Amino acid sequence: MSQYRTLSQQLITELEEIVGSEHLVTALAIPGKYGYDAGTQSGRHYLPEAVLYPADASEVAAIVKVANREKIPVTPRGGGTGLAGGAVAVYGGILLDLSRMNRIIHIDREEKYLIAQAAVPTIEIQKIAYQHGLMYAGDPCSSDDCVIGGNIATNAGGNLAVKYGVTADQIYELEVVTPQGELVTLGGRLKKNSTGYGLVKVIAGSEGTLGIITQATVKLQPLAPLIINYVAVFPSLSAALSAVNAILDNELSDVISLELMDSRTVLALERYRQELLLQGHKGDTLIIQIEAQDQNELQLKHQRLTGILSTSGYTAFFEADGPRIWQARRMWGKANQAENAVSVSEDIVVPVNSVLPFIESFQKLISSAGFDFRIAGHAGDGNLHLRIMPNSVALAEWENALAVFRKKLYDEVYRLGGRLSGEHGIGVKRKTYLAGLINPVELGLMKALKRAFDPNDILNPGKVFDFD
Ligand SMILES: Cc1cc2nc3c(=O)[nH]c(=O)nc-3n(C[C@H](O)[C@H](O)[C@H](O)COP(=O)(O)OP(=O)(O)OC[C@H]3O[C@@H](n4cnc5c(N)ncnc54)[C@H](O)[C@@H]3O)c2cc1C
Repeated sequence: MSQYRTLSQQLITELEEIVGSEHLVTALAIPGKYGYDAGTQSGRHYLPEAVLYPADASEVAAIVKVANREKIPVTPRGGGTGLAGGAVAVYGGILLDLSRMNRIIHIDREEKYLIAQAAVPTIEIQKIAYQHGLMYAGDPCSSDDCVIGGNIATNAGGNLAVKYGVTADQIYELEVVTPQGELVTLGGRLKKNSTGYGLVKVIAGSEGTLGIITQATVKLQPLAPLIINYVAVFPSLSAALSAVNAILDNELSDVISLELMDSRTVLALERYRQELLLQGHKGDTLIIQIEAQDQNELQLKHQRLTGILSTSGYTAFFEADGPRIWQARRMWGKANQAENAVSVSEDIVVPVNSVLPFIESFQKLISSAGFDFRIAGHAGDGNLHLRIMPNSVALAEWENALAVFRKKLYDEVYRLGGRLSGEHGIGVKRKTYLAGLINPVELGLMKALKRAFDPNDILNPGKVFDFD
């Protein structure tokens, strides 16, 4: 039996008094989209008992206070683009759609920072920074649809992480509602800060289980006048990944992005978009982005890159139409979905210099399982998205064969010093796998942290791990 209470009419009335009755829906009025996120649409759906649309942090705090008092689960939700089933109400209760909290509060061009409420779309932050001659360096491929609170909660990676790091690296300060309904500001707009535990980085990546982010102060970067995208095409994944190593080993290469699309992904994208992406070339492909202050620096960087790549065996290397190649890269999931009704996706991460041995093992495992695959991902961060399809394996045998394959795949990832998820998180989707892989002491510390923040386990329960 669940440890949680259900929402009575009396509690719904109390919650309506906080948000206004027009900002609360229950039962059949709850849109079906809340039952899943982008990663669980084809899996099991979980609907909450009520969806609330708070206007600001004080309403969030008041709602959570009631939920904590009554032991009602609360699930925060941003853009719903998560790929781990994080923003779904596994135990029912309240789903908090933060979409009304979508204001940019302040942008400071001189000091290079921006303050945004939790549900400001990531793309809006990127655009407003650009209009001020600056850059926001958080850039997940879902930036059109996800929001800053969701990015922070998942510690999203993205296309600029090779040089600028992941979302946690972009944060100065967070305003957070704790699972007990207190409002607290963590961190500060400081270059450095060793004042006690680094709770900003604890909240970043906690997948909505330790606190609800209501506002964030994020860093902005100077915008380089020249941003150039190259495409390099290779005859094999080994050649492409050797080139990644060569680029990263050269301390002067200074690339921003190093994205991989295997040849099957490129072909799938060409079929989906009905256009040639590589000027007629075929092969395993890297998108390489660099930035420069002026033409001289650009020329220097271009020469350096050409020199590094000259021994890599590439079959083509050219400057790409940036928006077009990135738009294609962002669509790889849709292109694969269109052709493969049944598939699963992985988000593994290994040390960057182990990507090549990992891929060699992966290819052997795939071929002995009889599956088909596609690969795209942030090769420069060691983070690969693997799409795995049954191919010739009968659907009746697929689940069992997949379980055997996954066990071998994860064993190899961990043997190489890698982890289960590089950026999508654990959510409800990967918690069983995590339980089998994580060091028990580390898991114990995570559970102790959760208990300290959230003694009643009301905030996004059923995610990351289960209590026994
Ligand atoms: C096409 C596509 C491309 C993608 N590319 C990338 C990529 O390049 N890099 C990457 O890292 N991810 C990527 N993702 C995954 C996803 O977009 C990210 O995980 C993103 O950060 C989720 O943001 P969201 O606003 O949609 O969050 P949601 O899906 O709504 O929520 C994600 C998690 O965060 C929690 N949460 C949301 N808002 C808050 C809040 N305010 N406070 C506390 N917890 C909260 C939720 O409870 C949930 O656990 C991609 C997804 C798609 C569909």
